[in-house]
Amino acid sequence: MGLEAALPVDGFLTTQLRHVINWSRRNSLWPMPFATACCGIELMATACSRYDLARFGAEVMRFSPRQADLLIVAGRISIKTLPVLQRIYEQMTEPKWVISMGACASTGGVFDTYAVVQGCDQFIPVDVYIPGCPPRPEQLIEGVMAIQRIIDQEGIPPMNGGKRQPLGLVMQPTHVTKPQPVGVTVGG
Ligand code: SF4
Repeated sequence: MGLEAALPVDGFLTTQLRHVINWSRRNSLWPMPFATACCGIELMATACSRYDLARFGAEVMRFSPRQADLLIVAGRISIKTLPVLQRIYEQMTEPKWVISMGACASTGGVFDTYAVVQGCDQFIPVDVYIPGCPPRPEQLIEGVMAIQRIIDQEGIPPMNGGKRQPLGLVMQPTHVTKPQPVGVTVGG
């Protein structure tokens, strides 16, 4: 397959195990779609043939959190849905990453009401924010590539007292998240 031509004469390749592990991680992200609204349609389009998320090894959408390591929050989150989102996040395997896709997931969007979460990062750690209403599939792909760059840089999410910390990352939000108009209590 041409590999033998690239090998030195004595036939040894040396690398570090963590590079191999990160290489396999970055090319086999398994997304857990949490699509609650119209951004979910763009998420579906990203996996279709025109945009072909499979080029990045991330086309295998999992609908079981135990088999997923990339949570994509696409759409607005209501207060009633929030415990479900948190439960799914906690059930996902480590190391795991989170993309907040679209204005609603990141800020509540135009739904500035007591019933809608004004930014899912108030309740789960978000690594990459994707702006737009809705974002285009190319933007989501850029978000997935941002996660791949994190993995390349050994950006395994740090833990602090068992709690995952959000990473300061490639697509930083340019907004200031508003507090919830009404206090929210959710189950742990
Ligand atoms: S950001 Fe826009 S497209 Fe996405 S869920 Fe909200 S209203 Fe729909």
